[in-house]
Amino acid sequence: MAWSADLGAGYRVALIQAGTFWSDAGALFGPVPRILWDRLVSDELTTDWRLGQALNCLLIETPAGRVLVETGIGERLNEKAREMRRYTGEPILPALRTAGFDPATVDIVAMSHLHFDHAGGLLDATGSRAFLRAVIVAQRAEWEVALGTNSRLVASYDQPELRLVRDWGAAGWADGEREILPGVSVVPTGGHSAGHQAVIVRPTGPRPGRPLAFFGDLAMRPWSANPRWVTAFDDFPLDSVQVKGELFRQAVAEDWTIVLSHEPRTPIGRMVPDRDRFMFEPVRAAGG
Ligand SMILES: [Zn+2]
Repeated sequence: MAWSADLGAGYRVALIQAGTFWSDAGALFGPVPRILWDRLVSDELTTDWRLGQALNCLLIETPAGRVLVETGIGERLNEKAREMRRYTGEPILPALRTAGFDPATVDIVAMSHLHFDHAGGLLDATGSRAFLRAVIVAQRAEWEVALGTNSRLVASYDQPELRLVRDWGAAGWADGEREILPGVSVVPTGGHSAGHQAVIVRPTGPRPGRPLAFFGDLAMRPWSANPRWVTAFDDFPLDSVQVKGELFRQAVAEDWTIVLSHEPRTPIGRMVPDRDRFMFEPVRAAGG
């Protein structure tokens, strides 16, 4: 899906889809019984019970510089892993160029977290930095947990790859909320991973523009709008439920544009209240 928007005040945003991989549907729905989610995905569920997950990244242009949010899986997966994840499509570097952006002009790479499907594109195919002048901004807590020894972590983080970018990443460690460029902030959320963060854009200027938020893997797909529908990949589900409720309330109150992290078809929308939960209402804007 091609989408870009003028947020006002000199801020623009473009969706960059950096390929697709396939995840177990049951894991994506975590504690939710199949009888409740089956009908939502009946048209896309494969015979081996998987769902296609887009690798949604954002290129945010501001008067003070360019921020890339997420990098997808990248180009360094070996054949076995590529086959297992069923990873296809254009990785972040060619996808950026196709959309008209030179990767060398990215000033900051903001990472929601460091799982393999978000941080894999930090290096190019040869193992060099993919974004020559960029600073990586992730939470220090995320770097610490990503390189930890708990065996559950090893499946979610590509630790050998993360060791290669650790020093680069350390230059941009965030400890808590930080405005990374005027109007662009990272906000720690935890929940999905210990150091998970959201990226929130509030175009600032004489005439402020429309806010936009990327909640990372706390909002992968439209059904994530129910705070209690958390994935089996969330390391701290109680925190996910709590923080999703708080963020989504704020998203409704201030009418934020929301971008979902893994939704292939309708990743752009807004949150609307729905009883004691929320609903994701997609917009089908062609761009503007
Ligand atoms: Zn993910």
